[in-house]
Amino acid sequence: MVRCKVCSLNAGHPGISIDDDGVCNLCRLDVAVELVENFTYVSRVYEEFTNSGPNQRGPHDCLLMYSGGKDSTYMLDKFVNEYHKRVLSYTFDLPFESVHAAANISLVREKIPATFVIDTDERIKDVMREVFNRPTPAKPGKYLDEKLPCVSCRSFFVIRAILYAWQHDIPYIILCADPQQILTMESNVRKIVKSFYRTFGRTLTDEYFQGELERLLFAPESELPKIVFPFVALRDEYDPDRIVAELKEKGLYRSSPYETHCTLFPLLNYYSFKNWDCMFYKLNASSYLRAVSRNKDYDRSTYSVRFPRSVDVTELEDRLRAIVFEIATGEGDPDAHEDALVDLFKRLDATEDAARYVARSFLDMRTVAADMGIRID
Ligand SMILES: [Zn+2]
Repeated sequence: MVRCKVCSLNAGHPGISIDDDGVCNLCRLDVAVELVENFTYVSRVYEEFTNSGPNQRGPHDCLLMYSGGKDSTYMLDKFVNEYHKRVLSYTFDLPFESVHAAANISLVREKIPATFVIDTDERIKDVMREVFNRPTPAKPGKYLDEKLPCVSCRSFFVIRAILYAWQHDIPYIILCADPQQILTMESNVRKIVKSFYRTFGRTLTDEYFQGELERLLFAPESELPKIVFPFVALRDEYDPDRIVAELKEKGLYRSSPYETHCTLFPLLNYYSFKNWDCMFYKLNASSYLRAVSRNKDYDRSTYSVRFPRSVDVTELEDRLRAIVFEIATGEGDPDAHEDALVDLFKRLDATEDAARYVARSFLDMRTVAADMGIRID
């Protein structure tokens, strides 16, 4: 197997090519041009939003996509209390989250004067079932294809937020993606919508959004909301540890290892192993290895998962693959699987409790798949 000698990504990883020196395109920064263009656009929209006066067309200056996590809580507080924006806080309540969004936001709701909207739509399950049950995709694939179910889920509720903002004459949408997520998200409303059409086709897209998207696609540019990525615009200032400390001081945040756990996480790993022969977090792991190779003192945890230096990513991935396939096919001993998974997650800096919690969710994989109508074998 050919692997990038810097970040260990495999030659067959979607969107990855490895040159004669054994270095991949992400490590060579072939994506730099696209990044710079994105950053320029994102910075301009951020400036425009922070300098804009009150929205003349309605009671809200912006819609902020609020998950209840540290990043969006920090920005909600900042835009309401520092910039004095009239914020509509929009939360999509995902049926796959172990702790529901409504519980996450109750603390903040009492303390920050914003309008809180919680949206939900069972069609998200149809979207997931469709993606998971697709036949094995054609190779070589493109960047992020191994995360297609996860990306599609996020696109679905971002598009619902876009529709909400458009229908309520709200000119800006705040999306609190961290600086590393900019590559995973289009920065323009029409591009996000078009990309969903490309993935699901016209018939399914119209079904999922009840024909509303087509109207949006043909609406004049001036009516469409613009997306603001504050953490990308302020990327040099992004410091997760400081954000958590500030929020705790204001009584706006209680951290819990379970709060953002997705019950589909084991199936997401099954999907990426089965279709692309890699674990779900492979790009995150390689991004960590890349950062360490550039800066030996690098130890900041700007990733959703920590990869301690002692971890051998390839070995970890091999062990996870073996266990995931055994569970998926109903082979092997569940107790042995649980112990092995707890050991793996603890090596990724998880506490004993968190590691066991995630390990048990893997043991439930077949039940979750059956409930969702997702085929595994
Ligand atoms: Zn690389």
